Amino acid sequence: LAQLFRPLDMLGMVYRTIRQGLTDMAAMFDLIDTPAEITDKPGAPALAVSGGAVAFEDVRFGYDPDRQILNGVSFKIEPGHTLAVVGPSGAGKSTIARLLYRFYDITGGRITIDGQDLRDVTQSSLRSVIGIVPQDTVLFNDSIGYNIGYGREGSSQIEIEEAARGASIHGFVESLPEQYAAKVGERGLKLSGGEKQRVAIARTLLKNPPILILDEATSALDSRTESEIQATLERISERRTTIIIAHRLSTIVDADQIMVLDAGRVAEQGTHNELLRKGGLYAEMWARQQSEAEEEAVPSA
Ligand code: ADP
Ligand code: MG
Repeated sequence: LAQLFRPLDMLGMVYRTIRQGLTDMAAMFDLIDTPAEITDKPGAPALAVSGGAVAFEDVRFGYDPDRQILNGVSFKIEPGHTLAVVGPSGAGKSTIARLLYRFYDITGGRITIDGQDLRDVTQSSLRSVIGIVPQDTVLFNDSIGYNIGYGREGSSQIEIEEAARGASIHGFVESLPEQYAAKVGERGLKLSGGEKQRVAIARTLLKNPPILILDEATSALDSRTESEIQATLERISERRTTIIIAHRLSTIVDADQIMVLDAGRVAEQGTHNELLRKGGLYAEMWARQQSEAEEEAVPSA
């Protein structure tokens, strides 16, 4: 009888894996409604990553046919380089991340990784090379070990601990009475925003992707936690092609390139110093954030 049930167990496991995969993906992208179906081309090959060069060429896209969100966005990221994307809320920054993950198909232009159009390769191979640290990390009602190990199927306890060390959360986990078996999530231990972010970073370290997207990964944190996590993120983005979507400009001054997105268009692009000299939108945003930071630093009378 046990043998009869084994295939059913397997099915249950596959179902749970798929369901959690979907939950995680949906959570990453704040999606409520299911996007239009994306399918692989018949006989599509796997994406072959050499260095991880990313290019958007005149990309056009709208969630609804009557409202264009990206109006011809072009940029290139050299293998291993970092592009910071900044701009007002609603400009289309997260949309760029979703399109690189091919969560939607574009309506015009081309997106390539190492010269291969995303639409010509399998989705599974595409998604296996991209790691995302989202703004809000959703934890499963399971152990903290499971939540970290989720980054890569079949990871061993040793690998999980190594990733946790890399994300500076191993010490915290060790301090829990049940350690890696401690239950987290809604029905378990509540983790702080910073601890959840570290779980997300540990997952990404396990996945070890050549391309990394950090979507306002530290904006929900207080500034002390932010600077701690910032150092970790800088370390993991070394030698990986990285798109960092940032709210606080102070976190991206060292990026190889900074792109200012405004209403679905590239308003400016350059290094921090180039953009400051230009005296445009970036310089304006920088000046505003600097004066806000000064106000915070001055104790009120
Ligand atoms: P940003 O990250 O720069 O704040 P987004 O890329 O998230 O901006 O969103 C750009 C625009 O697209 C916004 O006007 C937003 O309301 C709209 N939008 C985002 N997601 C969806 C969606 N799933 N369906 C319809 N419109 C969306
Ligand atoms: Mg966003």
